[in-house]
Amino acid sequence: MMKPPTVARDSEVKELRARLAEAEETIHAIRHGHVDALVVSGPEGDQVFTLQSAEKPYRLLIEAINEGALTILHDGTVLYCNNRFAAMVRQPIEKIIGSSFYSFLPSEQRDALRRMLTAISPNGAKHEFTLRRPSKESGGLPVQVSLAPLQIDGTRAAGIIATDLTDRNRQEEILRHLNEALEQRVRERTAEVTEANGALEAVQVKLRSHAQDLEQKVAERTAALEMSVKSLEQFCYTIAHDLRAPLRAMSGFTTTLLDDFGKLLPKAGQEYARRIAGAAERMDHLIRDLLAYGRINSAELPLRETDPARIVQDFVSSPERKQSSIRIDGSLPRVRANPTVLEQVLKNLLSNAVKFVAPGQCPEIRVFAQEPNPGRARICVQDNGIGIDPHYHDRIFRVFERLSAAGYPGTGIGLAIVQKGVERMGGCVGVESSPGKGSCFWIELRKA
Ligand code: ADP
Repeated sequence: MMKPPTVARDSEVKELRARLAEAEETIHAIRHGHVDALVVSGPEGDQVFTLQSAEKPYRLLIEAINEGALTILHDGTVLYCNNRFAAMVRQPIEKIIGSSFYSFLPSEQRDALRRMLTAISPNGAKHEFTLRRPSKESGGLPVQVSLAPLQIDGTRAAGIIATDLTDRNRQEEILRHLNEALEQRVRERTAEVTEANGALEAVQVKLRSHAQDLEQKVAERTAALEMSVKSLEQFCYTIAHDLRAPLRAMSGFTTTLLDDFGKLLPKAGQEYARRIAGAAERMDHLIRDLLAYGRINSAELPLRETDPARIVQDFVSSPERKQSSIRIDGSLPRVRANPTVLEQVLKNLLSNAVKFVAPGQCPEIRVFAQEPNPGRARICVQDNGIGIDPHYHDRIFRVFERLSAAGYPGTGIGLAIVQKGVERMGGCVGVESSPGKGSCFWIELRKA
């Protein structure tokens, strides 16, 4: 009862084995270019496809390349595939040939292939698919399918090149990760910078408010200081002024004493009385100079066009000139100055030039002008006097600074008045001098 089916199966098995062997031989032959035709059994019976021998080199090339390569019929039947494609889908070639290419795609991607095959342009088409593989663990293989239309023996077919996208996708993934990490770092940095900016702004706000407080305090202190300076000046002025009255009395009475009772005094008494009168006079001079310095320091000094030559000429014709030669060399430009202050300044310089000569020498003074910068005028007073060590050129402009004063009368305030007065008129002063070679004092002011 059981025998006939066994016999039938044996023969079936034999038949199948024979067909398998034949198929393997055929594939081997095709792959090595030994056959030029292929029989495919389908629902409409066996179909024969010839392969031109001219194509043999291409077949060999296709076997050698690192992409999956297939030839499929319009309905998806695989006519041919290379080793690489078999490795991609992890199936033996003999199982692939004759099967449907659709079976290697997940069901949701099959429509895309259908559309490609239907509307295939002569230039071909490209699409990304995931190739299914037998075992679940291996997962799908991402590939790019390039499809080119073919005609094989009058039947519509297509050549397919399947490129493995695993590496590309991995690199894209790495790149995406890197980008994300980078973006994260940028976000963190931005947050840090924003925070730091916030802190900085807070500090700036604090600083601004401190600066405002400070400015307010400085303004208050300055106002208070100005008040005290004003009242001190007023105080000094009053004291200096009041001191002059007893001084005048001292010198007046001493002179009267000498005039009326001089003959009654012994020689030494007369000498003492003269010394008292001289000291009172010097003290009066000192107080006048101090008052002048104080006025120059604090008074309003309106400026106007002033002629320095006229001031020098006035001095030349004054008794202070004594036995001296003073000449104006060239012309002196008019300057913007306060006439009273400029007169005092030039008078002080000229008196010093007359005064500080070696004993027995006749003072020779030259007044001339220079133009150090456009719009500025320098008026120079040059003498043939005793000169000044450069070491002291700055000091002599300070109040009460006197050098080698023995034998030369003075209070040590004249040059301080010169400097303060010129500075208050927007100018500057200086001196070029060395001992025994005379001095050249200059003042610089804006031209009128
Ligand atoms: P004073 O003339 O009353 O002594 P100044 O302030 O005018 O005071 O001058 C300060 C010092 O500078 C003088 O004592 C003198 O030593 C020196 N000095 C000023 N002018 C000259 C000059 N033309 N030649 C030499 N020395 C001078």
